[in-house]
Amino acid sequence: MSKIIAPGAVLGILGSGQLGRMFALAAKRMGYRVHTYSPDRDTPTGQVADKEVQAPYEDLDALAAFSKEVDVVSFEFENVPSLASECAARYVPVRPRGEVLHIIQNRLREKTFISSRGFPLAPFHPVRSEAELEAAVAAIGVPAVLKTAGFGYDGKGQVVIRRPQEARAAWQQLGEVEAVLEGFVDFKSELSVVAARGLDGEFAHYGVIENLHSNHILDLSIPDAPIEPRLRQEAIDIARGLMEALDVVGVLCVEMFLTQDDRLLVNELAPRPHNSGHYTFDACLTDQFEQQVRAICGLPLGATDQQRPAVMANLLGDLWEQGEPNWAAALADPQVKLHLYGKAEPRPGRKMGHLVAFGSDREDARQRALAARAALLKR
Ligand code: AMP
Repeated sequence: MSKIIAPGAVLGILGSGQLGRMFALAAKRMGYRVHTYSPDRDTPTGQVADKEVQAPYEDLDALAAFSKEVDVVSFEFENVPSLASECAARYVPVRPRGEVLHIIQNRLREKTFISSRGFPLAPFHPVRSEAELEAAVAAIGVPAVLKTAGFGYDGKGQVVIRRPQEARAAWQQLGEVEAVLEGFVDFKSELSVVAARGLDGEFAHYGVIENLHSNHILDLSIPDAPIEPRLRQEAIDIARGLMEALDVVGVLCVEMFLTQDDRLLVNELAPRPHNSGHYTFDACLTDQFEQQVRAICGLPLGATDQQRPAVMANLLGDLWEQGEPNWAAALADPQVKLHLYGKAEPRPGRKMGHLVAFGSDREDARQRALAARAALLKR
């Protein structure tokens, strides 16, 4: 049997945002201690962790010192340099392993890996020069989406090309860096599967979640997407297959498109708990953060049963534009739960928190989530 990292041990997390914060809350509930490492201080994770280390991800001495004080390292932010996870791995287990990070943090490597293992994707071509972009546009056709290969999230680093003549401007807009051109998907809906995989290969998932975006940022997540059972099973099989192919220990989210003709296409992977799984914190027997703790500690995974219909609505910094939101008005509905991440500066587009609303069914929960969020602006 694999060695268990028992409660009382110290869990190290690279990154210090809200995902680390909720991971730390779940870990501390189970009696673990948590250290967080990032270049920032007074962070969402640092505010609830036992220790907050502030140092650059490139500072291998600081990383070595951090790793020596913890029993396992995981991450909540995948754009940590590969060298950082390699450095940590000299001292303690890193879960998921650094190779997973390495593949996922570059769209070209990620898509090449996904397609090489036979999973469905929109057509894509690597782009390393303007000439390659022109050839890719000719091969894929328009509309198409040009995405930088590295460090993109929430629609950052991408531009839609609607006519071949726009290729040059798009190439310049993204800064003439390595990129991927991808066919534009006329999707019916955007879906995600959040799943966990234990040290011994045990697998658990939260079904298929429907995601609605606004300005490329996740807006609402509605579990139990209304899709055919065949597609639901296929989506879960894709998540399981990818986790096995990558040998992930921890939590992984697969974001997918459902096309107008009912095909599932993988969009991207996140090797950690995901915004679309935040509702699990309130709504499921075992939430995605506790699963991450259990998986990286070599413990059995928990049951994922959802207690009641629930919907998650993100709270972005824009809600602060007219002053402090009206918390009491949002919480006037007793079926609503509030999560705030402890961020001091509410910039537009910045994820400051989320609401989870429960209801008698999906639609009731959705209405309550939207009404509670609208109530935040009541004066
Ligand atoms: P990403 O950062 O790749 O997850 O993209 C952010 C959002 O942009 C997605 O959630 C989609 O709404 C949209 N998007 C990305 N790629 C495509 C595509 N190939 N076709 C259509 N929409 C896309």
